[in-house]
Amino acid sequence: MQQPSVNIGMVGHVDHGKSTLTYALTGKKTDVHSEEVKRGISIKLGYADTPIYKCVNAEGKVFYSNKKINDSCELSRVISIVDAPGHETLMATMLAGSSIMNGAILVIAANEKCPQPQTREHLTALEIMGIKEIIVVQNKIDLVTRERAIESYNEIKAFLKGSIAENAPIIPVSAYHNTNIDVVLEAIENIIKTPKFNENDDPIMYVARSFDVNKPGTKIKDLKGGVLGGSLIRGMLSVGDEIEISPGIQINRGNKTVWENMTTRIVSLMAGSESYDRIYPGGLAAVGTTLDPFLTKGDSFTGRVIGRIGKVPKTIFNLSMDSHLLKRVVGFDEEQKVEPLKINEMIMLTVGTANTIGVITSIKDGNVEVSLKYPVAASIGDRIAIGRRISNRWRLIGYGSIKN
Ligand code: GDP
Repeated sequence: MQQPSVNIGMVGHVDHGKSTLTYALTGKKTDVHSEEVKRGISIKLGYADTPIYKCVNAEGKVFYSNKKINDSCELSRVISIVDAPGHETLMATMLAGSSIMNGAILVIAANEKCPQPQTREHLTALEIMGIKEIIVVQNKIDLVTRERAIESYNEIKAFLKGSIAENAPIIPVSAYHNTNIDVVLEAIENIIKTPKFNENDDPIMYVARSFDVNKPGTKIKDLKGGVLGGSLIRGMLSVGDEIEISPGIQINRGNKTVWENMTTRIVSLMAGSESYDRIYPGGLAAVGTTLDPFLTKGDSFTGRVIGRIGKVPKTIFNLSMDSHLLKRVVGFDEEQKVEPLKINEMIMLTVGTANTIGVITSIKDGNVEVSLKYPVAASIGDRIAIGRRISNRWRLIGYGSIKN
């Protein structure tokens, strides 16, 4: 299959039908990791790719399908659906995931009052991360009366008013019964554009996962190097490329602990279950390296950035950012005002696919300095989501951009 060229986030409140809709759109389930299946929720980013064909029916009308239904069907492109967890403790994963989304589908179930806490939280996250190409799916339409469907539509319309998704189409769907899936595919084709690709750009890849792919007991000579999974934001990566990873790892030098970037070589590239010589932006790819697999096991490299040697964003320990706080904390049933940031306060920052914690050391004229527990790799102007711990959970309270 051709590689996907666009990443589409599937977001919305838990149980509103994200996984079911992903399945209806792609014929695949995203929850493929045993741990996630066991817990019954997506704890990490899942993804499923599908081709979209542009077809013509017997009456000459154009329609879209994920299968080659007749001879008229031509491949339009391959899309990758990124499934963000809707469970409320996992906001950080959703924010990190949105850094690799080009557009999003916001799923809202018609049989519940809108907005539910994570509906609001996810729309705010899309807004903060600057994701403008949004399609709203009013799901579970089969479960409600005509009156409730209209009422739900009006609730959704009122909720979207004044937001980034104010003019997004609202498509009534039954993901479970495969109703109106073609309309969603058509909206994807019309609204969520494939980002421009320039093969001469310096490649930047955000690492979302990392693995040790060796089975226990593998002989040393058969060991495979560490695998980094993530999404290429720009440029292209090829097998054989020498790459740099930022931040790298902590190393003891004399009596000091320092962070040093790592360099390695790409020995394999996979997207889906196929191997490639090179990969492009869109979809999630797995990069096989010569790194010690012990280093990369268990997602320990999540949040790092891969690029050409000497061309990765710098590692930041003391971060300086402008800050904009939301009026109210999102993700709660009840209204709660966002209090100003305070010196010495511990906050969580999401930068790219990295989630890190830090202590505020200075606040001056909206400029905030944060001493990070774990460094991040970032460039001036990169977006940051700001989280605060409220009632034992990290809540989204604002955003900013990197100044140093
Ligand atoms: P997620 O948590 O948002 O991924 O939600 P799921 O896709 O797991 O769906 C939650 C439940 O709602 C599951 O039991 C689905 O079978 C059911 N469901 C999803 N979409 C529909 C729909 O359109 N109609 C009906 N009747 N049930 C649905």
